Amino acid sequence: MADHQEGIPEAVLRNTALVQDLADVAKDSALLHGVLMRTEETPNSSELVSYAPFTLFPSAVPRAVFEQAVEVQTHYNLLVDRISQNQAFLEQALSGTIAVDDFTARLFSIYRHVLQEGPAQSVVVGLNRSDYMLDQSADGGVALKQVEINTIAASFGGLASRTPALHRHVLRVAGRLEDSRRILDNNPSAGLAAALAKAWELYGSQRAVVMFLVEDVQRNIYDHRYVENELWSRKVPVIRRRFEDVSRTGSLDQDRRLLVDGKEVAVVYFRNGYMPQNYTEQSWDARLLMERSQAVKVPDISTHLAGTKKVQQELALPGVLESFFPGEPQVAAQVRATFAGLYTLDPGAEGDRTVEMALANPDQFVLKPQREGGGNNLYGEEICRVLEGVKQSSERTAYILMDKIRPRPLHNILLRRGAELRLSTCLSELGMFGAYVRQGSDMLMNECVGHLLRTKSSEHADGGVAAGVAVLDNPLLV
Ligand code: ADP
Ligand code: MG
Repeated sequence: MADHQEGIPEAVLRNTALVQDLADVAKDSALLHGVLMRTEETPNSSELVSYAPFTLFPSAVPRAVFEQAVEVQTHYNLLVDRISQNQAFLEQALSGTIAVDDFTARLFSIYRHVLQEGPAQSVVVGLNRSDYMLDQSADGGVALKQVEINTIAASFGGLASRTPALHRHVLRVAGRLEDSRRILDNNPSAGLAAALAKAWELYGSQRAVVMFLVEDVQRNIYDHRYVENELWSRKVPVIRRRFEDVSRTGSLDQDRRLLVDGKEVAVVYFRNGYMPQNYTEQSWDARLLMERSQAVKVPDISTHLAGTKKVQQELALPGVLESFFPGEPQVAAQVRATFAGLYTLDPGAEGDRTVEMALANPDQFVLKPQREGGGNNLYGEEICRVLEGVKQSSERTAYILMDKIRPRPLHNILLRRGAELRLSTCLSELGMFGAYVRQGSDMLMNECVGHLLRTKSSEHADGGVAAGVAVLDNPLLV
């Protein structure tokens, strides 16, 4: 376990005096390098801010799996984009889900509305993040297994652009120059902004703006600001608006151009709108207004739906993923190699088998509803409790079952405002940022634009950085 880890030696992690000193250095370095977050007390003000939570040391990640994740990213970009254009597949994959899950149903009704009316814009931009854990295999190796792909509001590309400088500094002060040089460069904010800027350019109006559609509570604003500032430096104007602002001041002209606060919007970048709590009735109307418009939507409603957990499970069925890569079996195989076991809970014999399998060995699985944002998944005894309740009804279709991925735990120290310093047993999750721009049938950009390593204490089954569970980290390739 942790004492055999390559990377930062156990003796360093357990040197309390050194750790104490380094933690002070690290917090200041986080502030100096802009690894920032607003506080829980004043989430909408920048008068008083703190560092975003992060690990004191980078975490060891095997080079081969890191490179595998980079290489498969452009294929995932294509996959998401192809799913988004396949109405028959989306209808079939989500038909059971929308009958029982109101949130997915509302998204789907916007999708149908837009299809019926016909698209007003031929430019599509996808900014996604494919998340993985490194499953320990029986032979002692590790396998890259996808947790999920986020096709809307994938965050931390901004702050992840600043954490390499932070860890390099900590390692230098710790006297570990060699490790310091091994921290990878990372700048997702530039790649995300490049795709948004490309869309703005294709829209073709100097006066038009990129609108970040933001939450009411904006603790993670600095993460956005990095992408925003990249856009401004490319002379692309940016505004930030909430659903409520769009409801109040938004309209479409006769050509379905989107106007908000009197400004023409070329691109809507959704950093909100991924969970039911983000929506009032008025916000649903505002989402529909934006989707119907000529603005480039990042993502559009079909790309949003392509990122649902039910779609992920459908892709895992024999031949389904492969149907999206006709004539490219080796590409399909590369993507499929990253799938963990996924199981349907649809009514029928197969779904019944899934229920039995989960009830017999709940600790081997994760039960997932169609939700984003962390804290929604069910584990162990909870799986049994929920499945016992819904197993006889169509309600079970709202969930999918997934094999639990078991990464190797590593020791680290999690720095979080107000928390005491202690050695934690941690699990990490590696994310790859994908960015693509398509105009009609021409793929103009398709790239992996950076990575994100998040680490959490192994006591927590679920939850991301924004949810207060995971913290920012960097891979130290071994
Ligand atoms: P969300 O959309 O809420 O982020 P995820 O599918 O990413 O949903 O799950 C949230 C968290 O739960 C992940 O960050 C990870 O820590 C944990 N998790 C999810 N799926 C698995 C799995 N198959 N095995 C182990 N842990 C998982
Ligand atoms: Mg997630």
